[in-house]
Amino acid sequence: MEYLPTIGIEVHAQLLTQSKMFCDCPNAFGGEPNTRCCPICLGLPGVLPVANKQAIEFTMMTGLALNCTIAPEARFARKNYLYPDLPKGYQISQYESPISAKGYIDLQVDGVTKRIGITRCHLEEDTGKLMHTPAGTSLLDFNRCGVPLMEIVTEPDMNSTAEARAYLTALRAILQYLGVSSANMEEGAMRCECNVSVAPAGADKFGVKVEVKNLNSFRSAVQSLEYEIERQTRALERGEPIAQETRRWDEANLVTAPMRSKESAHDYRYFPDPDLGPFAFAPDWVHEVRARLPELPAARRQRFVAEYGLPEYDAGVLTESKALADYYEECVRLRPDPKVVSNWLTSELSGLLNERGMSIEECPVRPAALGELLGLIKAGTISGKIAKSVLQTMFESGKGAAAIVEEQGLTQISDEAALAQTIEQVLREHGDVVAKVKAGQTKALAYLVGQVMKATGGRADPARVNEMLRRALEA
Ligand SMILES: [Zn+2]
Repeated sequence: MEYLPTIGIEVHAQLLTQSKMFCDCPNAFGGEPNTRCCPICLGLPGVLPVANKQAIEFTMMTGLALNCTIAPEARFARKNYLYPDLPKGYQISQYESPISAKGYIDLQVDGVTKRIGITRCHLEEDTGKLMHTPAGTSLLDFNRCGVPLMEIVTEPDMNSTAEARAYLTALRAILQYLGVSSANMEEGAMRCECNVSVAPAGADKFGVKVEVKNLNSFRSAVQSLEYEIERQTRALERGEPIAQETRRWDEANLVTAPMRSKESAHDYRYFPDPDLGPFAFAPDWVHEVRARLPELPAARRQRFVAEYGLPEYDAGVLTESKALADYYEECVRLRPDPKVVSNWLTSELSGLLNERGMSIEECPVRPAALGELLGLIKAGTISGKIAKSVLQTMFESGKGAAAIVEEQGLTQISDEAALAQTIEQVLREHGDVVAKVKAGQTKALAYLVGQVMKATGGRADPARVNEMLRRALEA
């Protein structure tokens, strides 16, 4: 029997506001523990929270970018539970009246467009951080307490890990384009939880849902889903029941493990926060925020195809990250060869960055420097092959392309007489191959081209060598 997975994802994103959600403590990552908190974010008795307008607008922007409807009126609710990282005993969240709901996002997965429903996009506050030391004690840092946190929940519309990955990638891009969150998973600025169930293909209802937590990267999200789909499918095949529960991803052992039985909404005793009244979204305000939305990834991808004549694939890869798309556009402005710039950026330069686990923002070769290198190829000063090694040197030394070419004497041999001499020598040394070519084995010519390239240290133009070799052999 064939089994089909159903996946829904909840993402929490910290917002890039200056101050926290309900007080004026600074909102910044890290810092000396417990130096960025006050009676309000610690929830001491008698304090009065005041909602951060910027955080509300960031949530509106995200809701609009995800094609959600902005509620005419929204309000905050208390979600009651006891945990050491939450000194108030409740988290201020949204329950019945979220800021925005009922949207969608279109994903491109393997060349097919898949629409994923967005259930809601609401605003809440983050909790503090609990750290367990090897000595067996636990430490609390409340700096994160009250940091504005946006929650984005999808409908259970995804049916593969590829779709889940595409969703997370697309959502991260939207958050970064909007400038509302760094969406940096390593810093915990973007966190996700996946709901996954498996049922026989064609079944009229979903299987039992399992929630997976503790996912710190896209990779762990995808790996945990693969593991869960496999585990649940095996259980169904053996006729074993699947427990509705929350499971934790164990990064070290690449398995999920039971954490607790799944709690329901009523366990939290949600009720409207009496300290924070309902707030209304006047149509003018929504209109004004919508007008301020920047160009989003999907629009930029289409523009890259139309404006630069790029294939869909290139446009998709380049616009996945705002920083990469910005880098690309700056480089094309300086070196107007859109496809060439795309090729170098998505293959050679991305390769160097991936090897070192660096992001494009950290790339030591800036757009102007890459443009200079590509200009040298265009002018015929260096070959593409040499350019690859020059790029590597640029990356490691921070020096400019022209300076490296000059220093290492890498200029392409364009002097026909010098090249002819090398060709003559290669033909003399490889009489057997020459005989093969003359006997009609044209593939052997490539070997001779390779020998000339080797003899010139890669400094010859292969197309020109090819042509000169043909002429020499025909003579
Ligand atoms: Zn505070």
